[in-house]
Amino acid sequence: MVCEINKETEKQLFFHNYSRLPLAITHGEGTYLYSSDGSRYLDMISGIGVNALGYGDKRVVNAITEQAQKIIHASNLFMLEPQFKLAGKLLEISGLSKVFFANSGTEAIEAAIKLSRKWAHLSGSIDKKEIVSLSNCFHGRTYGAMSLTAKAKYLEGYDPLLPGMANVSFNDVDNLKATVSDSTAAVFVEFIQGEGGIHKISSEFIDTLKTLREKHDFLLVADEIQAGCGRTGKFFSYMHFDIEPDLICLAKPLGGGLPLSAVIGNSKVKNVFAAGNHGTTFGGNPVACAAGLALINAIYDDHLMEQASATGKLMRQAFEALGEKYSQIREIRQYGLMIGITVKREASYYVQEALKRKVLVNATSGDVVRLLPPLTTSREEAQQCIDCLDEIFSEET
Ligand SMILES: *Cc1c(COP(=O)(O)O)cnc(C)c1O
Repeated sequence: MVCEINKETEKQLFFHNYSRLPLAITHGEGTYLYSSDGSRYLDMISGIGVNALGYGDKRVVNAITEQAQKIIHASNLFMLEPQFKLAGKLLEISGLSKVFFANSGTEAIEAAIKLSRKWAHLSGSIDKKEIVSLSNCFHGRTYGAMSLTAKAKYLEGYDPLLPGMANVSFNDVDNLKATVSDSTAAVFVEFIQGEGGIHKISSEFIDTLKTLREKHDFLLVADEIQAGCGRTGKFFSYMHFDIEPDLICLAKPLGGGLPLSAVIGNSKVKNVFAAGNHGTTFGGNPVACAAGLALINAIYDDHLMEQASATGKLMRQAFEALGEKYSQIREIRQYGLMIGITVKREASYYVQEALKRKVLVNATSGDVVRLLPPLTTSREEAQQCIDCLDEIFSEET
C-alpha cells in the first residue's frame, strides 16, 4: 500500500479519533521538532508533557541503547535491575513504601482504582466501594479511568460506565463534605488539573480533604501523570501543599519518552495486592525503566525543577504584560512549566496561527492555550514563544 504522509492518507488509514496537526515529523533536537519539508518548529507541547528533557538527550538515548543491547523484554516473571533501580529512586523521592509499574497513565489509574477497592474490601467494610473524582478532571480513556472523568465530551455514547463513582465540583468544599462518607474508598485528585485547563486545587479544599480522610478513612490518590516529575517546580505537584497522598500515579515523562507508568503507595496499602491480584505483561519494561532512571537523574543533576520554576515565572510575567496590552486574553495560570492562557475565542485559532509561525502550542478545554514545554527550555526559546503570541494577538482581527 502506498503511503504518502498527508491528511488524506491519514483519513484512509486510521480511525478518526485524533486531530493530528498537518505535520510529518522526522526528528527532534532539544526544544525543536523538524518536519519532512525541512522546517523547524519550536515545540512548546513536548509530546503532551512527555519530553521533559526535550529531544535527543544523550543520557536517555545512551541508557536506552545500553539496556536494549542487554535485554529489551523479559516480563515480570523475572527480577530486572532497571525496575529495581527506578523503584528505589521513586520511593526515595516520595518517601512511600511500594511501587507497581505499568505502561500508560490510564493503566496506572486502573491499578489505583483496583487497589483502592481491594484495600476497602480488606478493611472489612462491605459497602466501602465509592470512588470520588473532581469536576473537570482527566484521568484517562480506559473504562475505569473514563468513568472517573466526568466530562460529557469524553463519555458520550460509552455508557454504561463503571458503577460506584461520584463527582465533586472542583474546589467546592461543601460539595466535598456532602459527598464523601464511610462508603468512600478513594478520592482521586489532580493537584493541578492539566486537560481541564491548568487549574490549581485550593488549600482550603486540601485541608478539608485531610480532615475528611481522618474521619472516613479513604485513600487519597494523587494523579501526577501530567504535573509530576518536576514540571511544576517540585517533583510531585502535591509537594506544593501540606498533604501526603496514599497513592501516587505517574506516567507521561516517566519513561523518558518510552511508555511507562507507576503507582506508588504508602504503608497503608503496602499489603493490598497478593500474587496474581494484578499485573501487566509489559509493565516496567527494562528499557523504559533505564530511560526513566536517566531522566530522573538528569532532572536533579541539571537542577531542572529550579529552571522550570524560573522559566515559568518569566513566561507568566511576559504573558501578564500581554494581558495588559490585548483584550483577547482573559487569564494566565502558571505552575512551573504548566501554563494556561484563557482567551476569548476558541484556543484552536492560536494553535493554527502559531503553527504558521513555526511554534507549536496546544489548546485544551476549548478556550485555553496550553503550554507544556520541556523543562530544559532556555530563556531565548521561551522568549521566541512569547514574541510569537505577541505577534498573533497584535495582528488578530
Ligand atoms: C494524560 C493523562 C492521563 C492519561 O494518561 P495516558 O498515558 O494517556 O493513558 C491521566 N491523567 C492525567 C492527569 C493526564 O494528564
